Formats: sequence, structure tokens, C-alpha cells
Amino acid sequence: MISVDEARSLILRNAAPGPIESLPLLQSLGRVLAESIVAPLALPPFDNSAMDGFAVRARDLEGAGPSAPVRLPIVMEVAAGFTASSPLEPGTACRIMTGSPIPLGADAVVMVEQTQEDAGTVVFARPAAPGQNIRLAGEDLMLGDRLLEAGTVLTPARIALLAGIGRADVRVHAAPRVAILTTGDELVQPGTPLQPGQIYDSNAYAMAAMVAETGAIPFILGVIKDDREQTRRLLEEAATYDVIVTSGGVSMGVYDFVGETLSQHGTMHFDRVAQQPGKPFTYATLWGKPVFALPGNPVSTMVCFEVYVRPALRRIMGQADGDRLRVWATMQEPFSKKPGRQAFLRAVIERTPEGDLARLAGAQGSAILSSMARANALLIVPAETTHLAEGERVEALTLTSFHQERTC
Ligand code: AMP
Ligand code: MG
Repeated sequence: MISVDEARSLILRNAAPGPIESLPLLQSLGRVLAESIVAPLALPPFDNSAMDGFAVRARDLEGAGPSAPVRLPIVMEVAAGFTASSPLEPGTACRIMTGSPIPLGADAVVMVEQTQEDAGTVVFARPAAPGQNIRLAGEDLMLGDRLLEAGTVLTPARIALLAGIGRADVRVHAAPRVAILTTGDELVQPGTPLQPGQIYDSNAYAMAAMVAETGAIPFILGVIKDDREQTRRLLEEAATYDVIVTSGGVSMGVYDFVGETLSQHGTMHFDRVAQQPGKPFTYATLWGKPVFALPGNPVSTMVCFEVYVRPALRRIMGQADGDRLRVWATMQEPFSKKPGRQAFLRAVIERTPEGDLARLAGAQGSAILSSMARANALLIVPAETTHLAEGERVEALTLTSFHQERTC
């Protein structure tokens, strides 16, 4: 049986960055840059005031003090968005707003709180240092600076930076269209009453929500009945999308037709992984498309998605390492298991001044969705480890953004 690490590296090797598209900046949040960005202008583009106040020549305020105030006439005003009509003459002051261009001749700004206005003049009771309260052209970035490399995830601050240099569109990797299929005669859609023996199809919702969270585009194609012919037909339809994700039908039951269809019509890369939960996880290529056939048990579905599908989708979207943040936490209770399979334990990690503390989020059966809903992390227990003592350090894959997600 293949190990978790082998399965992941095989999947990631096959997941190449997808096509590039140009998007309006506002639609690019979370996308990955497919171009490197060089500053086409300096920022700020001109020397400007950091304060509301008065632009002066510092030399005019030499020797100013409470007992020797300097009084200058206010000869002009520059509001933000305008420029001074003429240079500032010696012995005069210019009223200026934050962000307004510094008039030629002025070399300091005195904040309004440190001045007193009086009948068309302004009085200064302290000297000014040359350059004070002036933001110099290019102090944020210079023309030609390399700002963002291809492969960078677009965060709000990076989108702001792109807007700040005048970009309205940006080249990013396209979001893959992901076909979602669930399998099982027992499945009923939420919103309809359950008959005996039936359950609601929660995996379609889990998978669609997780796909959407990666930034890819989910398409729920529906439920495949436990029927060989329908399995083939719906998988064929799914192969018109970029990526196929299914749940169920890959175990040893006599009605599990997904695995059979994949090996008959596609290339099976592996059909089980040494892990708990999620052992029957199957990965194949079908009619040229990657298929992630996740096990049907709801927690197995979600864990396999986090561990395999999420990083693959992010890589297709251009992000080299699309895992969520991994952290180390301290076990607050012991845990034991058999050797042979890597375990992913649903846990709640609490961040404290003493470090990150991990507790199990509840029962760990692969059909127990309530503990998955409580968890904010998956603890990673290596295949050969049989016991974790209370106080032992354990690696964890975070599930929420309580630890900021990696962004590049
Ligand atoms: P299977 O892999 O098809 O044998 O399914 C394993 C378990 O997961 C069974 O108990 C199924 O009823 C359950 N299951 C399969 N698909 C879903 C689904 N879409 N939503 C909720 N539970 C499911
Ligand atoms: Mg089934």
C-alpha cells in the first residue's frame, strides 16, 4: 500500500499549473500571479505632505520659539489632487493638505496643530527641520522595482499594491472547473423527507464547499446510482470538466462501481493509501482528466480532500505549495493506535501564551461528521507511531484560518 507522502508527491507531480487568463483586479483575490510585476512608476509619484498644515522654507523658521514666534503670510493653498500655481517665495507659507504636492521652494511642513492662524498669517513657535513631514517621491517604490513574482497569491494588500501602480487587470492562472459526483442508492438531497434506509447527501456539499474555498469552481453533477452503466455515463460527463472529484463507491462492496470504471476506462495510479481515515482513496486519470475518487465516509471524504485535492487544485491554480499552514502543538491527552497507517486526528488547537495545545475534537470514527465540524486542525500521527503521550509534540494541519493561511 502506498504511503501518504508517496501519494501526495505522485498527485502533485501530475498537477501542472493551468492556463493563464487576464482578470479585472477585483476578481483576482486568492488567485496566483502568472506574471511578474515591475513598478511602471514611482510611488508616491511626487513629493507630498504627510500632514495637514503649512509648507514653509525651514530657513524662515530658524530661531523660532515661544518668546520669538515667526509670523508668515499665507500666500497660497494646495489641496490634495492639485498642484501649486507658483513656487513658494521666501518669507511666505502655503496651506497644505495631506497628500498635496509640495510647492517648489518649500522644504518642510509644519502640522496645523503646531501653528496659530491670525488674520491671513500663520505663527510658528518652534523651528522646522528641512524635510520634516514630507513624503519623498519613490520612498515606497521606485520605477523599475520588482514588486511581485509570478506564483504569488493575491491578497488584499497585493491587490491594493497593483491598484496603486495603476493596474486594472492582472494575469493569473485560471480557476479549474471541478465536477463533483456522489454515489449511492441511499442518498437523498437535503430539503426532501428521508425514507427508511436513506441518508442525506452531505458529501456533495462538503466537496463543493471545499472546492469553492480553494478558489476553484464546483459543479455538482448529481448522485450516481449504484449502477455500472450510470457510473460510466456520469463519469464521461464529468470528464468534460478540468478535474473530477467523486465520493463513495471505491470500497470492497459489491455495488462499488467507481474503482471498476476507472480501471476499465482510465489509468489507475493507486487505489488505497496507508492512512486512517481514507484508506480506499483512489487516484486515476480518466479520458485525460485527473480523478480524485474519495471514500464515501464523510470524514474520509473531507480529510482526503484537505490532504490531496486542495494542494492539487492550488497547484493547478499556480501555487507551488497549496497546503494550509502546518503547526506543532502539544497533546493534552494521550492517544494510541495500531502501527501501519498514518492517522489524521480531528482536533481543536487552542492558542495560548504557553503555545498551541491540542485536544481531540471528539470520536474519531470516519462517519462521525460532528467531530469534524468541531475540529480546527488534523493532527498527523506517523504510520509507525503507536502512542502519543500527554505533553508530546505533534504536527498538525490547520483547517481554518485561525492561523493565517500561507499565501505564497
Ligand atoms: P461507500 O464508500 O460508497 O461504501 O460509502 C461509505 C459510507 O459513506 C456509507 O455509509 C455511505 O452511506 C456513506 N456515504 C457515501 N456517500 C455519501 C454522501 N454523499 N453523503 C453522506 N454519506 C455518504
Ligand atoms: Mg456506496
